[in-house]
Amino acid sequence: MRISEIGEFGLIERLKDILRAEEIGDDCAVVTFDQKHLLLTTDALVEDIHFLEKIAPEALGWKAVSVNVSDIVSCGGSPLYLLVSLIIPDIDSRWVERLYEGIRKACEFYNCTVVGGNISRGEKKTIDVFALGRTAKPVLRSGAKPGETLFVSGTLGDSRAGLELLREERKDYRSFELKLIERHTRPSARVDYIKHLEKYASSCIDISDGLLQDAGHLARMSGIALEIDPKAIPISEELKAFCEDRGRDPLEYALRGGEDYQLLFTHPRKDQNPFLDMTPIGEVREGKGVFVEGREAEGGFSHF
Ligand SMILES: [Mg+2]
Repeated sequence: MRISEIGEFGLIERLKDILRAEEIGDDCAVVTFDQKHLLLTTDALVEDIHFLEKIAPEALGWKAVSVNVSDIVSCGGSPLYLLVSLIIPDIDSRWVERLYEGIRKACEFYNCTVVGGNISRGEKKTIDVFALGRTAKPVLRSGAKPGETLFVSGTLGDSRAGLELLREERKDYRSFELKLIERHTRPSARVDYIKHLEKYASSCIDISDGLLQDAGHLARMSGIALEIDPKAIPISEELKAFCEDRGRDPLEYALRGGEDYQLLFTHPRKDQNPFLDMTPIGEVREGKGVFVEGREAEGGFSHF
């Protein structure tokens, strides 16, 4: 059977069976070593699937680090060390040097270090990063409890609009359009949430595949249902302007657009922090599935 028939997540289930590893399936693997909680994660960017040829290599380097740091943050952790595996055709070495300028800038921003890696020749450019982090208290996808509130950081849907703008290949972009493009090419992991999550969150996931799909993971792993109020979902002024121009619905972008790298997490409503850009968008209740205005919802990004 082809992978596209069983899907990315169907394949992961089969591999878990082979490894006899039930616990696989969170944003990071949590291992306890020397009485410390270490977080391990890996994520690859592949040309034509995760990025377009024309994206600046500095931006790619930044993004490759950010998506891994985002997984560590979503487990309530801080990043420490990275390994970078590069698969590249025989291209100008300057491209690789510029990629590493972006990697270094991101490491300075997130306070982590590249300590090694590997380079191999291949058809398509692939940047595969492994990251190690640590936390005092791991926050998993499985801890949400009925009665808690569902929160999201930042705004949703901007990255998908930015990608569509890039694909238009125009010479000139307006300033709000450039902001959307920037959110796609240079996403930031929400390291400003680490302390809050570590202290208050019962569960968390970063939104890489779209709100509905990632909320689905959280609901399934926690064994609860999530009730999302679509009117509460935070949407940026830039996305509103983009959708107004094109007669589109910003909510569609917010619900199904991927790669925003915002955080979706749960805890009691009273623990909301007014100094963070967090918005309550729903409730955790008994049951299973994700519901929007009472209707069960599904959909997001799939790799196959
Ligand atoms: Mg993730």
